[in-house]
Amino acid sequence: KRRFPNEPEYHQAVEEVLSTIEDAYNEHPEFDRYNLIERLCIPDRIFSFRVTWLDDKGKVQTNMGYRVQHNNAIGPYKGGIRFHSSVNLSILKFLAFEQTFKNSLTTLPMGGGKGGSDFNPKGKSDTEIMRFCQAFVTELWRHIGPETDVPAGDIGVGGREVGYMYGMYKKLARENTGTFTGKGLEFGGSLIRPEATGYGNVYFLLEMLKTRNIDIKGKVVTVSGSGNVAQYTVEKLISLGAKVVTMSDSNGYIYDPDGIDEAKLKYIFELKNLYRGRIKEYAEQYGCKYVEGGRPWGEKCDIAMPSATQNELDGDDARALLANGCFAVSEGANMPSTPEAIDEFLKAKILYAPGKAANAGGVSVSGLEMTQNSIKLNWTAEEVDARLKQIMFDIHTQCVRYGKQEDGTVNYVKGANVAGFMKVAKAMMAQGVL
Ligand code: NDP
Repeated sequence: KRRFPNEPEYHQAVEEVLSTIEDAYNEHPEFDRYNLIERLCIPDRIFSFRVTWLDDKGKVQTNMGYRVQHNNAIGPYKGGIRFHSSVNLSILKFLAFEQTFKNSLTTLPMGGGKGGSDFNPKGKSDTEIMRFCQAFVTELWRHIGPETDVPAGDIGVGGREVGYMYGMYKKLARENTGTFTGKGLEFGGSLIRPEATGYGNVYFLLEMLKTRNIDIKGKVVTVSGSGNVAQYTVEKLISLGAKVVTMSDSNGYIYDPDGIDEAKLKYIFELKNLYRGRIKEYAEQYGCKYVEGGRPWGEKCDIAMPSATQNELDGDDARALLANGCFAVSEGANMPSTPEAIDEFLKAKILYAPGKAANAGGVSVSGLEMTQNSIKLNWTAEEVDARLKQIMFDIHTQCVRYGKQEDGTVNYVKGANVAGFMKVAKAMMAQGVL
């Protein structure tokens, strides 16, 4: 905290990991000699730069751009790019730190990184988005590459933005090696990549439910967000017979007691991806409740899947969920639950999966996209989906191995952190003092 003051999100992420790995760490006196904790708390390097671009009125605009390369002990830096007005170094450092342990859990050879800009894509024209992406990559391109650092999407960065960034990267780097994941299918993208984070989260949830013999069918689920992760979470839940009653965006949430069905979800896909509209319009279309400025956690549900952003579920929200009988929380977003909320879930011993484990499906299929680019072949949707399922199963197994408690329940926070940390720690020690 002394070294990095004013970085609350970063402190929060680091404290969460350190508080759960203590016992495992103390079993290995050699970790101390290698000063692993301090080395892991300081990213390998951080690039920050000015992004200058021209808006549609001909006015020159500036934004900040960043890339945090956190740790590459087990593979090239890998992690998304976020475009959101709230982006700052504290947020990107927390995301890159989390990414290192998440990527370690995926079983694939990927290190951790994250980048982004305080550029606000809302209300921008398509040409403004393109000019911004090109300007951003004009600086970023010299720091990334297929074997060094492979960015992807995140909040505010989907297929369109990745396409524009990759196009510019390719031109500057004079190569066609796929140094971005989440690309279009026509130029090296992988089937199931858009679906991967949401589907993966549901696959992880199913594994957790299995440990208590609970069937997903008929269960009531609250989901937050209405972007990439939320949309495919809802798609998979509907296909399994669950009833999803909420979705949200940064303005508020909708509550549909009849459940969002396939036709209504199709409307959301069009509303959000084609027209870039607001979730409020769903309530107008289907005549259901809309709560301006609200979050969905006060609505009665069996399962909650926060899929919007960090710290969107606090202690009061957690208590409201528990009071309403919620028995499982599986995080699609990164660090959506505050430390107080996590404490509530752990105390209540419900099935609680931190994002690091539950949302690792996205980066896993990004890893599979890198493999397909390397061998210059495309796998079928069935093949990628089968691999995704297997990876989520393996992540769950690792969480159980390291997180099993004396009373037989699983602390998935501890399990994910210890499993992720162990692999990175061993790789760092084996590679010497760097
Ligand atoms: P999108 O930009 O596609 O969607 C984000 C959604 O969250 C939108 O509905 C957005 O609403 C809402 N949101 C964003 N910021 C806030 C805020 N401050 N308060 C309330 N709502 C907000 O992003 P993704 O779906 O890709 O990402 C969602 C989460 O999942 C993030 O935490 C991301 O880091 C995480 N994640 C994403 C992965 C991926 O593969 N995309 C992989 C792993 C994790 P609005 O439209 O109003 O901004």
